[in-house]
Amino acid sequence: MGENADLTKGPDRKTILVTNDDGVRSPGLMALFRAVRGLGDAYVVAPDRERSAVGHALTMHRPLRVEELGEVGFFSVNGTPTDCVAVGMQKLLPVKPALVVSGINRGANLGDDITYSGTVSAAIEGTIMGIQSFAVSLFLDPADGKVQHYETAGHYATLVASFVMENPLPYDTLLNVNVPNVPVGEVKGIRFTRQSKRIYDGAIHETRSPWGEIYYWIGGGKPFWEHGDDTDMNAVAGGYVSVTPIHLDLTNRAAIDWLKSKWPDGYGQK
Ligand code: MN
Repeated sequence: MGENADLTKGPDRKTILVTNDDGVRSPGLMALFRAVRGLGDAYVVAPDRERSAVGHALTMHRPLRVEELGEVGFFSVNGTPTDCVAVGMQKLLPVKPALVVSGINRGANLGDDITYSGTVSAAIEGTIMGIQSFAVSLFLDPADGKVQHYETAGHYATLVASFVMENPLPYDTLLNVNVPNVPVGEVKGIRFTRQSKRIYDGAIHETRSPWGEIYYWIGGGKPFWEHGDDTDMNAVAGGYVSVTPIHLDLTNRAAIDWLKSKWPDGYGQK
C-alpha cells in the first residue's frame, strides 16, 4: 500500500479509480474495470459486499479493513462506496487519480433514486475531492430476462471516460450515466438529460416473524415516473444512453428570494 499520494499536487493524467456499490465480486465492476483499464492505470477499491442504497454514508464508528486481492491494485474494503473513494484516494493509490468511475450498477439510477444510490454517491465523493467523476448503471427492465449487457455499459463508460479525461467537467459537476440493457449495436444513441421525478407507491410490506412480531420490509414496489421528453428515464427507456450532469450544490436559488418575500417581519428575526 506504500507511499500515500500527495493530494496537494494535480492529478496523474492516467490514473483511474474504479469503485461500485454492488461489491467487489460483482460482474458490473469487472466489466467497468476491463472497459477503462485501456485508458490508463486503473485501480479498483470496492466494498467487500453489496452496499446498494447506502447513499453517501461514511463509516466513522468502526475501523475499516482493506484487503488487496489477487491482482495488484485491486482492493476490497469492508465499508461503503464513499469509504472506498476516501481511503482509496488518501491511502491506497500511489498518485491522485484523474478520474473516479463508479459502477456498472446492476439496475438503473434515475431521478430521485440517485439520492439513495451508493453508486452515484461514490462519484459525488470523487467530485467533492475535486476529481472528475461519473457513475454508470445498467437499466434492467424486469421483462428483459436474465441477460445483462454489461459490455454495452462498459463500451459507453469508455467513451464517457475518454471524453471527461480530455474535457474537465464544469465545477462541482459529475455525470450520471444510465445504459439500456441491449447489445451495443442496438443502442439508439446518447441523450443529454435532466433528472426525472419518481413518485413513490409506498411499497412497505408488513410481515410477521414466527413469534408474531411485526416487521416492515421496504422495496419491491412499482414506482411511477414523471416522463418528460428530456428526462433520464425517458431516454433510457427509449433505448438511448442517458447522460445527466449532476450539480452538487442543491440550493434552490429562486427559493432564497421566495423565503425573503414570504417570511413575516420580526418572525424570529432581530
Ligand atoms: Mn447497486
